[in-house]
Amino acid sequence: MRNKLYGIFGGTFDPVHNGHLQSVTTVYNHCALERICFVPTAVPPHRGRPGASAQQRLEMVALAVANHPQFDVDDRETRRDAPSYTYDTVKSFQAEDAAKCYCVILGVDALLGLESWYRWRELLASVHFLVMRRGGWNPPDPLPGWWKARYTESIEDLKRFKSGKIFQVNIIPNPVSATEIRCGLARGIDVSPMMPQSVWNYIDTNNLYLHFRQEKFLPCDRAN
Ligand code: ATP
Repeated sequence: MRNKLYGIFGGTFDPVHNGHLQSVTTVYNHCALERICFVPTAVPPHRGRPGASAQQRLEMVALAVANHPQFDVDDRETRRDAPSYTYDTVKSFQAEDAAKCYCVILGVDALLGLESWYRWRELLASVHFLVMRRGGWNPPDPLPGWWKARYTESIEDLKRFKSGKIFQVNIIPNPVSATEIRCGLARGIDVSPMMPQSVWNYIDTNNLYLHFRQEKFLPCDRAN
């Protein structure tokens, strides 16, 4: 039997941007996924407090995917009053439909930190990972044992095995990041071309990231 593949795309989305949309569109087409579900985190376990609230980030993602019938947004992490562990999220999707074959989609930068994730070995065994090559980030050389053992270049493997494979998708690099957008706001740069118009309108109308805008000309680094 060949699996139908369902993507889970987690992130802080603070805010969601064209880099997210373009890269997962490539993954969707390349791997012939059925759907991709964007899952904004509530309390990101590995980073500081986001600039926008969970509800605002959720609403921005909903606007961003509105014109993409193949994408959904899911609020389960924002409803959970606890750190947003991918392991818990995956288990909750699987509890809803155990027959589906789930693929966690993430940038190579995110996979590089996997060993610090909650129950990461069990997570690796529970789903496939679809890894997006992102500008400036390369897989380690040599690959760690767990990565090498699960690495495949065959989409057929994703369809044949229910879980446990790591597949790399080469995307056309889009250097946009949410950090760059927040820092751009702090520097008074027009960041609107980096995201869908509807998301920019939401940021503007709701005066989001005001503290970044007011910090104009202050140093702005990834810690922000
Ligand atoms: P920040 O700059 O605040 O860290 P981000 O732009 O990296 O944010 P996240 O919400 O943290 O966005 O990312 C969610 C996922 O999307 C991560 O797996 C990340 O690697 C991936 N991602 C983000 N931007 C890009 C991009 N331009 N191209 C490919 N993947 C991306």
